[in-house]
Amino acid sequence: MEELTKQCPFCGQVINAAAIKCKYCGKWLEDPQPVHQEGWSQTQNQTPPPPPPPQPNYNQQYTQQPNYNPQYTQQQIVYAQQPRKTNGLGIAGFIMALISLFVGWIPIIGWVLWFLGLLFSFIGVFKVPRGLAIAGLVISLLGLFAIIAVTGGMWDAIQRGIANLE
Ligand SMILES: [Zn+2]
Repeated sequence: MEELTKQCPFCGQVINAAAIKCKYCGKWLEDPQPVHQEGWSQTQNQTPPPPPPPQPNYNQQYTQQPNYNPQYTQQQIVYAQQPRKTNGLGIAGFIMALISLFVGWIPIIGWVLWFLGLLFSFIGVFKVPRGLAIAGLVISLLGLFAIIAVTGGMWDAIQRGIANLE
């Protein structure tokens, strides 16, 4: 049978493990836990981890602007959280794609701008942060439909003009 004893930290005498006061020196023992229960008491004393700090809401400043698709807004959050990294090609592609939306109807110049926007955005997608590059890619694809529509309309007009001449 195991003897439940411990050594008094003050006088060194062997006393009962359950004692909260030494019978030899008369001092109060603040920690009455026996040695063989140390592992149990350590796990019980573990404090829970502190709750994570609240995340700042990056979405708020963008939701007020119209005509953003959800993917673009989501990528903007990533971009805002990494302000030190820049994606030059992605930004260039995004700006060119944006400009080409307005000048895309101009033959040659608009098409070149649109193509450069698409090219830079496509390359920029493989760099970090890719938010603006993806946005430029989306705008470029949207611009393609606009260019096709405008160019198709112009082509129809030219054909009608030729038909009128004959
Ligand atoms: Zn003692």
